[in-house]
Amino acid sequence: MGVAAPRSSNGWARRGRLCIFAGMSDGEFTAKAGALWGTIPKEARARILANVFCVKCRDSVTIINFNGEERNGDVILKGACAKCGHEVVRVVETSEHDNSGN
Ligand SMILES: [Zn+2]
Repeated sequence: MGVAAPRSSNGWARRGRLCIFAGMSDGEFTAKAGALWGTIPKEARARILANVFCVKCRDSVTIINFNGEERNGDVILKGACAKCGHEVVRVVETSEHDNSGN
């Protein structure tokens, strides 16, 4: 009889969607925003968070202490500029993933 090979799990499917909350501090997401945010690849999320435009710095900055809400299928991230603390908002267009049209 053959040896029952353990199913090799590459892990990606097992990672809970909620792990985004664990790594990212204070983020408070609405359920809907959290679900949408979870559909974005981790690398893309990191890039988004590190490229938020701050009107005060006139530059792309990292958003901190952000929370998220859903609007028209997109995620709105509201937080503070890591450099100067000014409020920054980033619209993350996730609607392209799910074109259900409103
Ligand atoms: Zn700033």
